[in-house]
Amino acid sequence: MTTAMRAQPGIMDIALYQGGASQIEGQTDPLKLSSNENPLGASPEVTVAVTEAARTLHRYPTTDHVRLRTAIAEVHGLEPDRIICGVGSDEVLTLLAMAFAGPGDEVLYTEHGFGLYRIFALSAGATPVVAPERDRRIDVDRLLDHVTPATRLIYIANPANPTGTALDMAELTRLADALPEQCLLVLDGAYAEFYAGYDGGAALVTARENVVMTRTFSKLYGLGGLRVGWGYASQHVVDVLNRIRGPFNLSAVALAGAEAAMRDRGFVETCLRENSEQRARLTGGLRQLGIACDESQANFVLARFADEAEARAADAHLKSAGILVRLVKGYGFPEALRITVGQSDDVTRVLDALASFRQPT
Ligand SMILES: *Cc1c(COP(=O)(O)O)cnc(C)c1O
Repeated sequence: MTTAMRAQPGIMDIALYQGGASQIEGQTDPLKLSSNENPLGASPEVTVAVTEAARTLHRYPTTDHVRLRTAIAEVHGLEPDRIICGVGSDEVLTLLAMAFAGPGDEVLYTEHGFGLYRIFALSAGATPVVAPERDRRIDVDRLLDHVTPATRLIYIANPANPTGTALDMAELTRLADALPEQCLLVLDGAYAEFYAGYDGGAALVTARENVVMTRTFSKLYGLGGLRVGWGYASQHVVDVLNRIRGPFNLSAVALAGAEAAMRDRGFVETCLRENSEQRARLTGGLRQLGIACDESQANFVLARFADEAEARAADAHLKSAGILVRLVKGYGFPEALRITVGQSDDVTRVLDALASFRQPT
């Protein structure tokens, strides 16, 4: 590397993000349960909308995303002017770091927090700070112990990935209330819909300047490939983010597809019902096999084995049965596998494979 082209401080400390595997060598069509994707795919309405939008690809998309923001606002009962749309929620999360943290500032997250939070902090030149969890749960007091006058952002996924555990409203409110003025609490709601009765923190955002919520079309809506997410924040925060957001960040195809997905509430309800049924089956089945797991509030379950060697052996056994799950050593769980909740047949396949792993015939 020539010194003339030295990257900004922090950037060379970033390790490239590793996504969930999608191939098994020698297998043509593996069952992919490694990236928390929707096993039912996306709403058929999305295909219709995307096909229609593809007729006019010579036109630039809108810069204000007003139709998509209106659809989101109507469905969630929010103010459209306080919504910002991004290329996945990743973009909104990264814009927050760019806008509110820099050299000398701290960005706080927790021990088993999502791998991208460190990348967002380092990209902005800020210092990542990690607070310990307790029994695979975010601990509000331990988090608060790590807040300093330099803390500008706190990233929390609720429910969390890869643990599937969640803080309740009372805990979230206590956290938001205890934060100093200069500190923005970012509630990453990638799995918010799967946590029954939870609004993703929307009411907290409405009532406070220092809370931001992000949401995505990548998980429940089955649109990880389309790359659309959104955030809900105070007017001030949204105004700041809009200044650094690329004006044409979302393609016309992405905007049309996401709007159609948001408006198809019937499909969403079917997916949520299916997820909660199959999540209960997967959780119960794992426990019957003596594989420990916490109650998950998301669309995946963290299956804990005796140690790293057993988790790796289970992973290899699942692979030989054509099933891809996620090793989560990088999240501080060398002994665990994160398994996305699939359809009924998928869950049966996982449980059968793990039963034969436990008791080879
Ligand atoms: C999947 C996921 C996201 C969503 O990313 P997109 O950019 O919206 O696809 C955000 N946070 C967490 C914790 C996730 O697991």
